[in-house]
Amino acid sequence: MTIPNSSLPVSVVTGAARGIGLATIRWFLAHGHQVAMLDINAEELTKAALEYQGDERVLALPCDVSNPEQVQETMARIEAHFGRIDALVNNAGVAVFKTLGTTSFEEWRYVMATNLDGAFLCSQACVPVMLKNGGGSIVNIASISGLRASTLRVAYGTSKAALIHLTRQQAVEFGTMGIRVNAIAPGPVETEMAKQVHSAAIRADYYDSIPLGRYGTMEEIASAVGFLCTPDASYVNGQVLAVDGGFDAAGVGLP
Ligand code: NAD
Repeated sequence: MTIPNSSLPVSVVTGAARGIGLATIRWFLAHGHQVAMLDINAEELTKAALEYQGDERVLALPCDVSNPEQVQETMARIEAHFGRIDALVNNAGVAVFKTLGTTSFEEWRYVMATNLDGAFLCSQACVPVMLKNGGGSIVNIASISGLRASTLRVAYGTSKAALIHLTRQQAVEFGTMGIRVNAIAPGPVETEMAKQVHSAAIRADYYDSIPLGRYGTMEEIASAVGFLCTPDASYVNGQVLAVDGGFDAAGVGLP
């Protein structure tokens, strides 16, 4: 039986079984938060949560963010367990790198359902809980592919561009209620996702186009996410922070 601490902030991270999501969980734990780790991959989630077995600050729950019933039920379980939610990081995402001509409708819907519907559903379920405690912070993990277009990212880039606009809509709607909403647009980060979709040509182009000349690390994304959830960012609302080694500033097109 775990006994959560009702005075510590509670942060919910989706897609937390690995990659940027897991790095964000580690950032929150290192900075005095309690965390709820959500992921569709129950096996990988259990593996990731093993590290925190017996740690009363950590709750790991399998959840498909694109499933409205699962999302409602999961957020209710988090509230029942911790009694509050202070931050939500909509990080769960999938990538299909194809042209418009080769993307099937099923692939398009899969990407939209995870990357966009997931953030909509999780935010909708979390906001009433945050409001009971006076407000909070939402961070949507977008991408530089949501800021810049390219031939291979018709579904992925469009989902992330829509997520950036959803961020602004949420910031306007919830700002008056004490909930700040911002987005992070990461550049390329060496994760399982990048291994799956970054071809040699894409990698070469990133190395050429990024002023810092390298991929980012998961920890570099996590610390920017964490910052947006702290009182240090108390006047930051509706913004998109590119954490991309200067890629967007350089203004060079994606391959
Ligand atoms: P990853 O594939 O390593 O991790 C994503 C996690 O999300 C996985 O654990 C997966 O099981 C989970 N997930 C997928 N669908 C889900 C669903 N329906 N419900 C719940 N969980 C689900 O990827 P990553 O690179 O760590 O990416 C994290 C986020 O960062 C994504 O939104 C991604 O689009 C974004 N991003 C990544 C990069 C990069 O280069 N890696 C760049 C820009 C943006």
